[in-house]
Amino acid sequence: MTTPDPGAPCAVCRLPATAVVAPPRRTLARGVDPSDDSYSVTVIPPDVALCADHVAGVGRGDVVIGWCDDERCRTYGEAGSMSVCGAAYERLTPVKPRPSK
Ligand SMILES: [Zn+2]
Ligand SMILES: [Zn+2]
Repeated sequence: MTTPDPGAPCAVCRLPATAVVAPPRRTLARGVDPSDDSYSVTVIPPDVALCADHVAGVGRGDVVIGWCDDERCRTYGEAGSMSVCGAAYERLTPVKPRPSK
């Protein structure tokens, strides 16, 4: 946990953030690169800025952080709620480690 940039809003309620936490997952598959379909694009989501209430809420599992990957958004919000572009924030489920055989 680090200190956010001054003025960064909480991803959930837009109040000033007091902390920055690691996103639920460190990579996000954006799908196939339109200019080269043999290559799939993986992005690294930024850290999530949160207010004290929502740091606690996320820690308890009461609040689930979602991500909108629309190019107009690319922001965090509460999973399932409506983002600015009209699409719902998608839940970022942690990637489970592959079982080793
Ligand atoms: Zn908040
Ligand atoms: Zn959006």
